[in-house]
Amino acid sequence: MKVYKFPTKDTWKDLVKRPVLEKKEISGLITEIFAEVEKNGDKALIEFNKKFDKADTQSISVSKEEIEDAQKQIKDELKEAIQQAKENISIFHASQKQGIQKIETTKGVVCWRENRAVEKVGIYIPGGTAPLFSTVLMLAVPANLAGCKEIVLCTPPDKKGNVNPAILYAAKLCGVSEIFKTGGAQAVAAMTFGTESIPAVNKIFGPGNQFVVAAKEYAQRFGVAIDMPAGPSEVLVIADEQAVPEFCAADLLSQAEHGSDSQVVFITTDLKVFDETIECVEQQIKELPRNEFAAQALENSSFILVNSVEEALEFSNLYAPEHLILAIDDFEKYIPEVQNAGSVFLGNYSCESAGDYASGTNHTLPTNAYAKNYSGVSLDSFVKKITFQQLSKEGLKNLGKTIELMAEAEGLFAHKNAVSIRLNNKCWKT
Ligand code: NAD
Repeated sequence: MKVYKFPTKDTWKDLVKRPVLEKKEISGLITEIFAEVEKNGDKALIEFNKKFDKADTQSISVSKEEIEDAQKQIKDELKEAIQQAKENISIFHASQKQGIQKIETTKGVVCWRENRAVEKVGIYIPGGTAPLFSTVLMLAVPANLAGCKEIVLCTPPDKKGNVNPAILYAAKLCGVSEIFKTGGAQAVAAMTFGTESIPAVNKIFGPGNQFVVAAKEYAQRFGVAIDMPAGPSEVLVIADEQAVPEFCAADLLSQAEHGSDSQVVFITTDLKVFDETIECVEQQIKELPRNEFAAQALENSSFILVNSVEEALEFSNLYAPEHLILAIDDFEKYIPEVQNAGSVFLGNYSCESAGDYASGTNHTLPTNAYAKNYSGVSLDSFVKKITFQQLSKEGLKNLGKTIELMAEAEGLFAHKNAVSIRLNNKCWKT
């Protein structure tokens, strides 16, 4: 891990860099994968399963029997946990529904917006190093609440060619339409073009490693929308003297264990908390089964001592973390100062994994500083908003002159005429 004490502001632009692969390095591979999937469909996916996931899959479709079988493999205790998480995610996302609000902008001119669900959505569920069944809840629950007609799920198979039963359990629970064994860029390509088995979708959702993120970016060239760039996980913890070093260390490691390309940042105003948190990280990492990933992630991670909480927040806004933890006294005072972050956790008891699993907020969030211009997944991500307007005769009379003048000034006389022809029409005068 990298340790910085009171770094000067001119060094910050280097400190906020992520350990991402160069776009150039990845883009050739993504282009090849897309071309192969477009040309050879399912056959290409089966080959990529062998190549990238060391999995022998005869078919990429998950059968009804496999789904039923998975229901029996999950312990009741885990089923109950998944159901409670689903309940909270449903409550929080259902609260995001907004009614129709009709606004009269000028007398007789009424405008409003209505939501329509994106009809076919593709959800990518990471499974390269850990089967993230929690992501099924995070994507399928709001997709269903929004009213999406078709929810297609892709996830990498394990080495035996199977999908993790918890993913299948959660998928059935959340009303996913179809499930396929394919991961990485090839899964994104399949949902973009469609194959013999996998339907093409209108919008692709879900987090993933750098190959998945690059593929989603590339998919947009073919008219598919994406939720956002949600890549390797990251957390930034801001701690003052009342923070608990054990808690801070646990939160940092909870993101570091995602993968070697994850990044965590710890910023504190207190030297004792700084030293003790580093010690706790060194202790706690020994106990983790995924400590190899966490250790690699820590190599690209920073522990920073600063002068004030204000300075820490200034750094955080420049870094724009996916997750931000404010382990500080009087955190409410600082909420307005948070400008760029995917999701924020307040106080010593709001651990980041609560948001990952079960508090109700969505864990599909922008990484790599995209929190500067993207929000995390929400109910809104699954709908389009269509505007409507209705002008009465009186409304057109009230607004007509304005439209005519503006159209004429732009030299668009057909636009002007669409108003004039109505205002001067015989039936208007009667
Ligand atoms: P993954 O499913 O994203 O990726 C696995 C796939 O990557 C494989 O199926 C394979 O096809 C492809 N792949 C691997 N190595 C490759 C190579 N050399 N060339 C081409 N393709 C290759 O699973 P993962 O790797 O475990 O990554 C999951 C990621 O999701 C982690 O980085 C984690 O931090 C991130 N994540 C992000 C969020 C978020 O909201 N931002 C949430 C959860 C998880």
